Amino acid sequence: MIIDEKNIGLLSKTAEPDERALRAILKEAAKGKGLGLEEASSLLAVRDAAMLYELFKAAGELKERVFGKRIVLFAPLYLSNFCTNGCEYCGFRAQNKDVARRALSIDEAVAEAKALEEMGFKRVLLVTGEDPRWGLKYIVECVRAIYEKTGMRIVHVNAPPMDTASLRELKAAEAGVYQAFQETYHRPTYELMHPSGRKKDFDFRLSVMDRAMEAGFGDVGIGSLLGLYDYRFDALASIAHSQHLFDTFGAHAHTISIPRLRPAEAGLKDIPWQLEDDELKKVVAVYRLAVPSAGIVASTRESAPFRSELIKIGATQLSAASKTNPGGYKGEKTLEQFSTNDHRSLEEVIKSVVDNGLLPSLCTTCYRVGRTGHDFTDKATSGEMEKFCQANAVLTLKEYLLDYCVNGSKEAVARAIEEGLNEVKDAGIKKALIEKLKELEEGKRDLYF
Ligand code: SAM
Ligand code: SF4
Repeated sequence: MIIDEKNIGLLSKTAEPDERALRAILKEAAKGKGLGLEEASSLLAVRDAAMLYELFKAAGELKERVFGKRIVLFAPLYLSNFCTNGCEYCGFRAQNKDVARRALSIDEAVAEAKALEEMGFKRVLLVTGEDPRWGLKYIVECVRAIYEKTGMRIVHVNAPPMDTASLRELKAAEAGVYQAFQETYHRPTYELMHPSGRKKDFDFRLSVMDRAMEAGFGDVGIGSLLGLYDYRFDALASIAHSQHLFDTFGAHAHTISIPRLRPAEAGLKDIPWQLEDDELKKVVAVYRLAVPSAGIVASTRESAPFRSELIKIGATQLSAASKTNPGGYKGEKTLEQFSTNDHRSLEEVIKSVVDNGLLPSLCTTCYRVGRTGHDFTDKATSGEMEKFCQANAVLTLKEYLLDYCVNGSKEAVARAIEEGLNEVKDAGIKKALIEKLKELEEGKRDLYF
């Protein structure tokens, strides 16, 4: 059994803890070893404003101990909006017939990646609808071509669940993280929301991360589409899913995303379980404390000011400048999956992360040096990642400053680099970092720890 749906149902109704109980759980969480489902369910039940404040503060502090000040930035790249599934909430659903569909050719996918590269991105997340005509072979070709023909350093993939052999092929193409969201772990709601197409099969989707790990993906990305069902149930189930991966493979989910349902063309008229901002913040904080090694990804589904709040309470990754339609970075106006809420450029997001006292990072090191899977989980949980994250953020931000920074944020970025360097605690790393920063100025690129 991957998750115990009955137990999660019971725990999702847990009563709000009193202050003493809350503090005991936060004290346990501060050790950075994670939390059990009972403790997580109590935290998810907190509603009192003063207690929420304590919860958010604890999550922000733990984030900084595990990953330092860095916030990783990336962009999604939509390859195709053809889809044979009927997900009730999605603009790409097959029933949305009055729209022009578009699948990028391999060259067009490369052109999109190049457009992102010109903005300064080094990592990209490929995303597609589910259609056998643009299935595994196509995705693998896109991954390979983007590595070969662009300067992208890591290509992650969000693609529909597949069998182990297919996942092996994807891994052989050097895809970084394999990501797929369960949408909801509540079976009856899942069935209601996915009436047709291959995605109807709840268990095939739930088990895909086990297959991905068996296929050699150390790093997998999970998530619930928040708003489909009770967020407390789905957040707990996501934690349980990650715990299952840890128990079985020794590695927690590498990332947990927090997509909140957005309006989509011909999608759901009403959000079935609308989530307030404070509730989404609570989900972020609880993920952070329950699974300290996981990256928490906040997309442009959320507004700019709200994303600034999320990165202070435990989110570690932001997408930026996102287009959710194929060809979007080349200015095409094809069908979007959903409408985004934060339209800032990469440079604007970088500036705002700096203004919030944090350190933007374009780092891709771990995937490339094999700090993945259980090694990453172990290093993050033992507090060893922070020094790599901080130093690599400084290096990649310096590259950004030298190569891409144009619109008046140079001063702020230069200051952030200086402060980031000063905050490096390990004397050996600091010395080497100063050397590497010089090498970047002399023209070297892609330096890391
Ligand atoms: N088609 C693949 C699949 O379903 O696994 C790829 C995923 S889809 C292109 C990316 C994710 O966007 C979905 O897994 C879902 O969680 C999310 N999504 C779909 N419709 C959305 C909406 N209206 N608002 C916010 N997120 C949405
Ligand atoms: Fe297709 Fe994925 Fe959208 Fe469902 S969520 S309609 S599978 S693109």
